[in-house]
Amino acid sequence: MQSKTVFDQRRFFSVLRLNSTRKETCQVEEKNSLLNEHKNVFSTVDEDELKKLFDYNKGYIEFLNRAKTERLCCAEAIKLAKEKGFKPYQDGDSLEAGDRIYINIRDKALILYYIGSDDIEAGMNIIGAHIDSPRLDLKPDPLYEDNNLALFKTHYYGGIKKYQWVTLPLALYGTVALKNGETVKLAIGDKPEDPVFCVTDLLVHLAQKQMQKKATEVIEGEDLNILVGSIPVIDDDVKEAVKYNVLKKLQKDYGFTEADFESAEFEAVPAGEARNVGFDESLIGSYAQDDRVCAYASLKAILDMTKTPKRTACVILADKEEIGSVGSTGMNSRMFENQTAEICASLGAKDSGLSTRRTLKNSSCLSSDVTAGYDPNYAGAFDTTNSAYLGNGVALCKYGGSRGKSGSNDAHPEFLAKIRNLFDKEGVFFQLSDMGKVDLGGGGTIAYMLAAYGMDVVDCGTPVLSMHSPFEISSKADTYMTYKAYHCFLKEFKEA
Ligand code: MN
Ligand code: MN
Repeated sequence: MQSKTVFDQRRFFSVLRLNSTRKETCQVEEKNSLLNEHKNVFSTVDEDELKKLFDYNKGYIEFLNRAKTERLCCAEAIKLAKEKGFKPYQDGDSLEAGDRIYINIRDKALILYYIGSDDIEAGMNIIGAHIDSPRLDLKPDPLYEDNNLALFKTHYYGGIKKYQWVTLPLALYGTVALKNGETVKLAIGDKPEDPVFCVTDLLVHLAQKQMQKKATEVIEGEDLNILVGSIPVIDDDVKEAVKYNVLKKLQKDYGFTEADFESAEFEAVPAGEARNVGFDESLIGSYAQDDRVCAYASLKAILDMTKTPKRTACVILADKEEIGSVGSTGMNSRMFENQTAEICASLGAKDSGLSTRRTLKNSSCLSSDVTAGYDPNYAGAFDTTNSAYLGNGVALCKYGGSRGKSGSNDAHPEFLAKIRNLFDKEGVFFQLSDMGKVDLGGGGTIAYMLAAYGMDVVDCGTPVLSMHSPFEISSKADTYMTYKAYHCFLKEFKEA
């Protein structure tokens, strides 16, 4: 059926007028205020800011190199916090405004508070990052021998493209809890004189069948075995002489036996240091920038606060995000709620249970996790007008999730307006982004777990390329803007 068109004289002339005014008033100032064009940080900031930007990234690269696992992140964060005067907090300690404290949760997660002058029940400014990253964990009984080669079996941790983890030098970090109560630590592969380890790949000459497989099956989980030795002991009575020799070495150097793997955690991570990338050294390439880029920025944001804030500032460095925030060191546990209850009690709350609920409900939070940066090599995966571009600053993601925002925290516009206002005032370059094309997949962060308390939360983090790969890429402009965003948020964000 066709609709009849009736000539509407009034409408015709009003459209004509609109067109003519548009032509007259397209001035530069108006264009700047009407359009939302994102500026590149490098081409916009002055020399002074540029220097601060590059200096900040030196500290970040050092952090990446010292903190290759969540345990090392936790230890390094405590070291830096102590240097700035933060004190370890014990449950029951009394607290007052101006106190700066940290709580170490099983050496794998950390919570820091800078107690503000306002009543804590009016809410805190919270930043939550995670310090676990995808990697290869050893199986509980890992060591075996196959024809004069000794290998470790692994079970990968987090979402990885398995084919990225072969023919790559690996470093090994271990914590072995012995039956006598002692703990042995291993760190092999990141010092220049250290040996490294490796998962092999099938030579291309014999790979005709392998190359026909789907990418998910080219390297299978059970094939991610790490090569660890090849010299046998000389003893005819020993069946697996190479495996035996590896165990002898472990006992001699570290004092543990094969059975002690039963109470141990070993992580294999890409060996080597973070590197400057590009002729202009404007980018950083490193393992585990998801989410150490935001964890470092969050940590530094609270450590650099020089004056007691009004609202209590809080930074969470959580574990287990990459496998669903599970376990007693992940955000799905009660660790943060319990700790905040202790803080409320230490500040004199009569009913610390109710006080905790009020505190959390009235809080505001930046969930500080990375997002996907637009990648020219995979342009088809992105919506070009809703992507985070490297060099344009920190990314705010109103929602994440996949298949119709499923599982996401959809931040409230009223909260976003206040964040925009603060960032604009403080010279923070930021960009709103959707992680990729709607139907392609998606990702989650800890945002929804904090939102469950009733607080305002938005995802706010650094865009990276090659996320979850052994060599993730970030822009120094964005890492710096991430820090600036967190710092001003902790210092002065106000709900009202
Ligand atoms: Mn992450
Ligand atoms: Mn991740």
